[in-house]
Amino acid sequence: MAAPGPRTPAASGTRLAQQALDNAPGRRRPALSSFSAFSFVPPKREGPPELSYFSRPRKTGDFFTYDAVFGITEGYDQYLPCCDRKHAKGRGLKIHEEYNLETEKDPVVIVISTTGTGDPPDTARKFVKKIQDKTLPPDHFAHLQYGLLGLGDSEYMFFCNGGRTVDRRLQELGAQHFYDTGLADDCVGLELVVDPWIDGLWLALKEALHLQKEKEGMNSAVDAVSSSLSPTLHTVHELNLSSEIQNLKLEDGGARGSDILSQKLDDINLVAPARDTEPSLVHSVPPVSQSALNIPALPPEYIEVQFQDAQDEVSHNSCPLLVSHLATAAMGTFCQAQLKLVCFEVHQVEVWISPNRDSLPFKEGLNPHLPSLISEGTTFEVPVTKAVQLTREDAIKTALLLELDIADTAFEYQPGDAFCVICPNNGSEVEELLHILGLSEKGDNLVCVKVKQGTKKKGASRPQHIPERSTLKFILNWCLEIRAIPKKAFLRALVECTSDASEKRRLQELCSRQGASDYTRFIRDSNVCLLDLLHAFPSCKPSLSLLIEHLPKLQARSYSVSSSNLYQPGRLCFVFNVVEFPASPSRPVSRKGVCTGWLAELVAPLLHPSKSTLDTKGESSSTEKITIFPRPNNAFHLPADPSVPFIMVGPGTGISPFIGFLQHRQKLREQHPDWKFGETWLFFGCRHQDRDYLFKDELRCFLENGTLTYLKVCFSRDSSTAEVAPPKYVQDVLRLCAKEVARVLLKDRGYFYVCGDKKHMADDVSDAVVDILSMEMEADKLEAMKILAMLREAKRYLQDVWS
Ligand code: FAD
Repeated sequence: MAAPGPRTPAASGTRLAQQALDNAPGRRRPALSSFSAFSFVPPKREGPPELSYFSRPRKTGDFFTYDAVFGITEGYDQYLPCCDRKHAKGRGLKIHEEYNLETEKDPVVIVISTTGTGDPPDTARKFVKKIQDKTLPPDHFAHLQYGLLGLGDSEYMFFCNGGRTVDRRLQELGAQHFYDTGLADDCVGLELVVDPWIDGLWLALKEALHLQKEKEGMNSAVDAVSSSLSPTLHTVHELNLSSEIQNLKLEDGGARGSDILSQKLDDINLVAPARDTEPSLVHSVPPVSQSALNIPALPPEYIEVQFQDAQDEVSHNSCPLLVSHLATAAMGTFCQAQLKLVCFEVHQVEVWISPNRDSLPFKEGLNPHLPSLISEGTTFEVPVTKAVQLTREDAIKTALLLELDIADTAFEYQPGDAFCVICPNNGSEVEELLHILGLSEKGDNLVCVKVKQGTKKKGASRPQHIPERSTLKFILNWCLEIRAIPKKAFLRALVECTSDASEKRRLQELCSRQGASDYTRFIRDSNVCLLDLLHAFPSCKPSLSLLIEHLPKLQARSYSVSSSNLYQPGRLCFVFNVVEFPASPSRPVSRKGVCTGWLAELVAPLLHPSKSTLDTKGESSSTEKITIFPRPNNAFHLPADPSVPFIMVGPGTGISPFIGFLQHRQKLREQHPDWKFGETWLFFGCRHQDRDYLFKDELRCFLENGTLTYLKVCFSRDSSTAEVAPPKYVQDVLRLCAKEVARVLLKDRGYFYVCGDKKHMADDVSDAVVDILSMEMEADKLEAMKILAMLREAKRYLQDVWS
């Protein structure tokens, strides 16, 4: 995933409009909720203000709250801002309610996150409302200079909208940036923007204070900040680490005693660069290898785990329900009705325990109602009734369609909705992790998870996605995202669990400021996960509690519905590409996406039925079930008025919701022959006409029966002998249909839907629409961008995109 640099509000062109207006009505989001503003108070004593860590969000109900945005090196905390108001006050910091922005002359730093559907967090609402007062004059904040850090998650619509709204409005009211705005994305790691943003803040403050000094003749403030930037002083207060160890060598892989692991370690040795001059995940070169390092403060431990033997639990008879569950199992009478009852009641008392408990609910077709997932709302456990491979074997990506039977559930959807699939981690990766942690024998043991007594972590609480009691396997299978890219704080904590000095040093480098680009290159951009690290650093033996502290929640994956409840009552279809990650120098094993890999494996018997999976009619039958929950999308739906024309742009699996639209429209046409139906356009693209043209036959039928008025298709990798090369991408075809597109949007007041890849397609499509509008209206680009903005605002230009 590309690492964003600090973004500035000065980005130009359509992408700015795209960003600023990327406001298609949103889905419910877990919110980042934090707001803080403070004016900079120069240090009263010499020394470097060192911002040393960025805390993880803590989930409180529907919101995430950042306990503290800035942590600070001991001894300097009285000078520096902290977003936790309680502590801020104690430290003599001015927070926004305690001073008047309307008269504030010192540089102000604002840190603000986004919540709900692009709203500012609760703590900032009053402030945002105040500055949005339309009667304020355009020079209202002309005296104000500020720097703004927005926190958000690009997985959701309205990325960083809280920050953007404040930033935009302050600009409109005449405030000046003394420092470029940073928009940090939790989806890729907040630290990618936060770290450099904080690093640059001091220089920007120095300059801002210089200017102020020039204006006001004030010297003291500048001296104080300048001294904080003094490199000599800086190093005194930073954690100095000697760099004696320069040539890293991997430990002998055989120490683990596992053939597989030894093989993997050998692989890593093989992929490590032969020359010492080349850095790698495990090897550093000067200057990093010779630098004193600034490493983040060690995050305080706050979780404690206790292993219990399931058998003890039974003999102590502390949980009668569990006893009945085990008794049933022991008798070998796994009658589904009995199990359902047991599970329901076990769920009620939040006990998720028993040998193999982690896999039973799904294997036996039961709705586990995982306590850790309850916050997601109602979940439904539904059978997979059909699986179809939509692509040919030689296609670059494998697209599968799954059909779910929702007839016996209260699950409801409209075409255009998305829903979430609860998926487990890859089973063999969990086994491997257990093996490395030395916990293979304890997989089925009960684990009690508690907050460590006397922890130094403020407001520590057990992560909500971890049950208080469950089995070890359950935690690793269903609760923790073991594929997550380790954040720097995690690396810092791993240093303490590593015995080999050279490995320790490399881990320190990777989380240090000096090793920032190595971290980006060898960890973030290489999508290295915990297992990769444990293979590369074999003396690193983290505890389970450390994993619980640092690994994020295993998120359910979203998919767009690809069917119509009118056309196929009781059925829900969706389409996905099986995500594949090839091996790389940092990761010698190829992998499949967590959810798509799991689904592909789960439905393999349906795709390739053997005699045992065929029912008496010769059709393949499946008992596989998956657990889903709704993720309604309020706006990505068919126009309420069927006479309104619409355009659909959905290359690749982006076609998915449009199949639902067209099925729905076909059924409406059959049921209401007297209604007037507007024209429908579909722009579809894929690589090869004969390999990955999804729903080719269905689209032809829609076209033939008039449900689809125009079908425009392009193939990006097919060679052509035509004199004029055919268009490759959907945006090229759109441009060829400029007149019609402009007519549908402007004259006929039609709708425009885009679905699919966010990174490569959605921006190109909106750029094409701006060009089309500009050309057809004979207006300049800015004017066309405004029209597009209005279309978005009116919810007539709608996107359902993902990366
Ligand atoms: P994951 O394991 O989560 O990996 C996903 C991404 O992580 C990769 O694309 C890559 O960027 C990165 N990554 C992780 N590990 C590595 C690695 N080792 N090397 C390189 N990169 C790595 N998808 C569909 O196919 N069809 C849909 O209809 C659909 N609808 C969606 C609707 C919404 C509203 C949203 C938000 C998403 C939708 N998605 C859809 C995307 C879908 O939710 C999943 O993200 C996708 O299926 C991949 O999930 P996964 O668990 O298999 O992959």
